[in-house]
Amino acid sequence: MHNDNQENSGTYKYVLIERMLEQMPVGVALLDAQTLCLLTANAAFHEFLIPAWQSECAIGHPVTDWLPLAQENGIVAAYRSVAATGIAYRSGEFRFYTYGRGMTYWNWTIDPICDSDGQVVQLLTTASDITPHVQADQRIEQQKQEFFRIASHELLTPITIIQGFAEMLELQTCLGHSLDRAQNHEAVTAIIAYSEHLTRLIGEMLDLAHIQCDQLLVHRAPHDLRKILAELIESQSITAKQHRLHFVLQGLQPADTLIACIDKDRIVQVVSNLINNAVKYSPIDSDVEVGLRYNREQPAEALIWVKDQGVGIPARDTPHIFERFYRATNVDRSLGGFGVGLYLARELVMRHGGCIRAESTEGAGSTFYVTLPLNNCQADV
Ligand code: ADP
Repeated sequence: MHNDNQENSGTYKYVLIERMLEQMPVGVALLDAQTLCLLTANAAFHEFLIPAWQSECAIGHPVTDWLPLAQENGIVAAYRSVAATGIAYRSGEFRFYTYGRGMTYWNWTIDPICDSDGQVVQLLTTASDITPHVQADQRIEQQKQEFFRIASHELLTPITIIQGFAEMLELQTCLGHSLDRAQNHEAVTAIIAYSEHLTRLIGEMLDLAHIQCDQLLVHRAPHDLRKILAELIESQSITAKQHRLHFVLQGLQPADTLIACIDKDRIVQVVSNLINNAVKYSPIDSDVEVGLRYNREQPAEALIWVKDQGVGIPARDTPHIFERFYRATNVDRSLGGFGVGLYLARELVMRHGGCIRAESTEGAGSTFYVTLPLNNCQADV
């Protein structure tokens, strides 16, 4: 009776261990330490093999048969070393070309199993798939490379221009010549404009870094949206002289106030970015409309839009333009920019509890819509 129980509980334990091994998402296999033949393996390990060696076909065969490139990858050497030394092996990252999935990446471990004399008789190996993590790291690395490539170009251009004008002013001063008023004005205006551009670019880079470490904060307080937009359009009209900027109100009179709880500087940053893009991506002498709508039937929100008559956005690019570093395929790459403005705009609008979207037809212009909540004046984020 006692023995029966022991045997039953031993069998039950064996069944549980087998079930556990079969269900594990990590491949587990046992190899003979001398021949490196596969003795047993769980389902996850078999899936890792090419179809011809799956369904237990690999059992009894050496690793060099069922693992293509085992020799080149250094796996065979690792098995031999563990068999000879009894020292466990931990791999960082092994690359394997897996049937149906292309290149995959695995963490590989080998542990010795010894007999009563301390001889290594078997090798226990585990293989865990880390492909998604490696691919995510690779994507981030690519984006970083691309960012540094574009950012360094974007920063160098204004610095070169500023330096050029500054050197010209210095040379004239050294030679004792004075520039005429118009030339002087042109040089100083360019220096100011490109310095502001540089400041904006550096600000965007800092914002990006803050988003990465979840430190992009907005400090909300009650502000009149109509007044903010009117002032912004007035100042932008001075720089965007080659376009006609219009301010359109819907559901509001020019003297009305529309109070929203916002971070004023951040909302100015968002709308400035939309206006700058509208100007940048549309022909000289065209109209850019900035609108503000208050709808009494939807009193909880305000709608801001920026509409241009520019190049528009191809339909296939529209779903991606708010992604970090994304630039549409129809963009003239000689136009400055590194695909960060809309990404930041969306982050900032979301932190206000609002949303941003684009409607566009390639070749026929774009309209960007920003919705902001109006009934949220109690809290600061
Ligand atoms: P940048 O303008 O620096 O490239 P943004 O993040 O501001 O970056 O915009 C991302 C992309 O969205 C742009 O590169 C462009 O392809 C597209 N885009 C944005 N605004 C407009 C617009 N008004 N008209 C056409 N395309 C636009």
